[in-house]
Order: sequence, then C-alpha cells, then structure tokens
Amino acid sequence: MCRHLAYLGPPRTLAEILLEPEHGLLRQSYAPADMRGGGTINADGFGAGWYPAGSAAPARVRSARPLWGDTSFAALAGATSTGAALAAIRSATVGMPVVETAAAPFTDGRWLFSHNGVVRDWPGSLAGAAARLPVTDLMTLDAPTDSAVLWALVRARLRAGDDPADVLAGTCAAVDRDAPGSRLNLLLTDGATIWATAWRHALAVRGHDGATTVASEPTHEFPDWTQVPDRHLVVARPGHHDLYPLTGPRARG
Ligand code: GLN
Repeated sequence: MCRHLAYLGPPRTLAEILLEPEHGLLRQSYAPADMRGGGTINADGFGAGWYPAGSAAPARVRSARPLWGDTSFAALAGATSTGAALAAIRSATVGMPVVETAAAPFTDGRWLFSHNGVVRDWPGSLAGAAARLPVTDLMTLDAPTDSAVLWALVRARLRAGDDPADVLAGTCAAVDRDAPGSRLNLLLTDGATIWATAWRHALAVRGHDGATTVASEPTHEFPDWTQVPDRHLVVARPGHHDLYPLTGPRARG
C-alpha cells in the first residue's frame, strides 16, 4: 500500500521534509515498515505538491519512476522551500496501471489529495457513485484507478463548497457501504489545514516546533508521534491537531 505525508509549518526544503528524515518517504519507498494490506515496496511512482511562497495554488511534480532513483527530483527538492507540502509514493494495486498520472497527489485549484489503500471490487463497486458525477469529470479522470475516481468524488463536493472534513468522512462512509472492506486513508490539504482519515490503514501525526506532520509511517523514532486510531479523522494546522471518530455524525455526510 502506498505511503503518504503532509507537512504544515515553518518553511523547510522538500528534501528536509521528504528525503532526509531517517524514515522519511525516501526510505519508505524501498524499506517501508508497515505495508498492511499488501505490497513490499513503493516503487510505482511518486508525487509531491507544495505551495510556493505567496501562491494559493500548489505546484506539483509526479513520476512513474521510484523516488529513490530520481536525481532530478532530489535536486529540485534540495532547492525548494515551502511551509506546506503533500507527497506520496505508490505501490500500484494489482490490475491498475503504472503511469505518472496515477501517482498522487491529485490537484485542483488550491487542493492536494492522496489516497492510500484500495477500493474493494473496483471498478464495479464505484460505478454507482461515479455515475452521479458530471460526465466531463469522468472524461478527464487522471487515470483509470480507484484513487483517481475517489479524487473525482471528493473534488466534486469540494467544488460544491462542502466542508472538507464532512467530504472525507462522507466519502469513507459511502464507499465503505458500496465496497465493504476497502482501505480508505485519504489525505487532503489546502496549504493551511490538513484533513486525513485512518480507515483500515496506518496513520500517524506529530506536532513539533510549530509544525505538524501527518504520515502513513512516523518519519523519525521520536516519541511524540501519535498513532491515529482506526476510523478517525485528523484535522491539523501548524503545531496543532484534533482527532474525531468517523463513526459519529460526520460519517453521515
Ligand atoms: N489503489 C491505489 C493505486 O493503485 C493506491 C495504492 C496503494 O495505496 N498502494 O493507485
């Protein structure tokens, strides 16, 4: 299962956020610690999005290659500072294509989004929900994958102005009804707040030095990581986060 990470806080280089931590995304690409649900390494591409200073819209790079072999990204990451980033490394679900456009983060306007997991019985299980989307959204999907369809579903509600926490909670609940047993760790940011779900997959959060990192796996051995309990939503801002159960009112959204 893929791994993802979001950071909000004082400006750091993408290399400091993603590549240099002893168990950061770079190491997790070839030696992840917790691949519950399948896969051994995350070699099927990666992506990183960040908010350049003064810009409400993120920049993003994606690749179908393993993170560990991309020297161009390493050079870019060392030279790029940001106070808000969301990145992912991919282990493609069997049957889904290994292409650049299937790598998270997906983006639209000010949003960056990632899905870590799998939708059971895809594509049939998502057909009903997808059929309610505008046809043009389906015609312009990033890739024929479960994650890209989840992003289209989330994006449609964000565009309608729905509350991001309700959107993620409602998406998890609805998809789990249609596709029971799915793993639905969703990660969303607008550069100011992070929203993340733990739904049958690992997620941890750490507040440190006026920053907050939300990640599939702790990037350091520091004791200040909190494991997010299953079926919970994290809402995080720099240096602060709250946890909400996803089985309560939010899950009805
Ligand atoms: N199912 C998604 C894909 O193949 C995500 C994979 C994962 O989390 N390992 O893109």
